[in-house]
Amino acid sequence: MRGAGCGRAAASVALALALAFAACAPLRREPARSTPSPVPRARFVPAEVPVVLAAFDGAQEVTIGVGPGQRLTLRRVGALVQAADGRRAARIVVAPTIPRLGLALGDRIYPGRLAVERRANGGLRVTNLAPLEQYVEGVVAAELVLWSALPAELEAQAILARTVALATLADRPFVWDTTADQVYLGRFVPGNSPSARRVAARLSDSVAITRGRVIVRADGTFDARFHAACGGTTAGLRDVFPESADYASGVTCAPCRQRVAFERGLGGPDPERPLGWTFTATAADLARVARKLGVGTRVARLAPHRVDHGGRWIEVRVTGDAGSRVMPYKDFRLLIGATSLHSGLVLRTWPKPGDAIENGLFFEGLGRGHGVGLCQEGSHDYAQLGWEAERILAHYYPGTSVASTSAAPATRP
Ligand SMILES: [Zn+2]
Repeated sequence: MRGAGCGRAAASVALALALAFAACAPLRREPARSTPSPVPRARFVPAEVPVVLAAFDGAQEVTIGVGPGQRLTLRRVGALVQAADGRRAARIVVAPTIPRLGLALGDRIYPGRLAVERRANGGLRVTNLAPLEQYVEGVVAAELVLWSALPAELEAQAILARTVALATLADRPFVWDTTADQVYLGRFVPGNSPSARRVAARLSDSVAITRGRVIVRADGTFDARFHAACGGTTAGLRDVFPESADYASGVTCAPCRQRVAFERGLGGPDPERPLGWTFTATAADLARVARKLGVGTRVARLAPHRVDHGGRWIEVRVTGDAGSRVMPYKDFRLLIGATSLHSGLVLRTWPKPGDAIENGLFFEGLGRGHGVGLCQEGSHDYAQLGWEAERILAHYYPGTSVASTSAAPATRP
């Protein structure tokens, strides 16, 4: 297993959220962002990142561990938030009694402070006001399997996480802690073993080395996307996300190509780091899709309508018993279930593309995620070959460079 969260994706917010949640493949996450942004649009670097904690959004009451043996309960009372310490306001900011210990909420520890406010559509909203670099640590911890991640791989993901965060904050004043933006775990809490402490130190060191560094393209079109495993060639940005301002084309991913060859030699997916996958959409799955698309009660045929240079399905024609429709493959994948239909690199189907489907449709493919931008499996292997983070990023994001944000953190004007 490599990876646990998801990244950025699609057009409408609803679709982006749904795709993102659905797209968390067993290996690594799938990017999910609703609005692509040039990075950084403004040289605005927040001192802290307001991270809305989705698990508590709408709760009537939360209890925060503010220090050893100290807990504070806050609840929604009418139009206000009321804290057990007597405070009553539309928004209450809770700080830890011992800053280095952080704040405990649920089963996580959060750096910085927690703001608890009334939510417009009921209940409470809890926002972690996390110092930027600590936020980046909490994202990298979610995105990579830390025990096996290499320093350059961690550094590349840290630069990427910071870039995505600043781009998002240029669009709106907060980020979600889920795949809607970037999965964020709060503070990474290692176990007590020496190896766990070494992992935590490697994470902190990697983020610290990249402090304040982001990916930029001179014309401001850069759109930070990443995915779990490309399968040999990454996808062109606008092939998958036509709404993006970024025009980057796909690149060859030598590590994935080598692993494809390795799996061919094995005669099946590598049990340690599988790149190949299979999935059978049942007749019931296909009937559900047909009804949603308004093409009848079952899918009679499925065929790629447009394929990219690497063989990735970009658009499909779905033919039902009462109509036919061409649609983006990524939307079809969402309808079927992106955790099952892992990628657009479909090698074969049975029945074959365009043939009559009687009872279910078998897919065989390679890779995980939408295929755009940095390939995390490839990044890991390039790091193993000795590539530095900046070289990895330059490979997956042609025409970009890594630059420092403006020196001093500032508050939003
Ligand atoms: Zn790859």
